[in-house]
Amino acid sequence: MSRIRSGDTKPEVLLRSILHGLGFRFTVNGPGNKKLPGKPDIVLPKYKTVIFVHGCFWHGHENCGDFKMPKSSKDYWIAKIGRNQQRDATNIEELTRLGWNALTVWACEFERLDARNKLLTRLPSMIRRETT
Ligand SMILES: [Zn+2]
Repeated sequence: MSRIRSGDTKPEVLLRSILHGLGFRFTVNGPGNKKLPGKPDIVLPKYKTVIFVHGCFWHGHENCGDFKMPKSSKDYWIAKIGRNQQRDATNIEELTRLGWNALTVWACEFERLDARNKLLTRLPSMIRRETT
């Protein structure tokens, strides 16, 4: 937990460099990103795929070692994080209805090298859907 974080290696930044390395084209702040439900962090128009990068705490990553419900004001946090989860689910439903492939990656998947390697291995097939 007390590992040193280097300045700009936020999950979003890491994901962008991973996608770049894999040769994917994507937009980050394009009009597409802002118009879509939930304003996805990454839009890959060619694959009709969007990616959300979610912080484990705010979005309540289940079964995640990085997510612990605070002891104080517990009810407040349960309600707040519950609303975030609900909103995330609604956004993904809407995107799916609009024909998008909506993916979520979690901040913790960038923290550890083994998790990051796994992500790197599974991302291409998640982005290139088997459909058409
Ligand atoms: Zn997590």
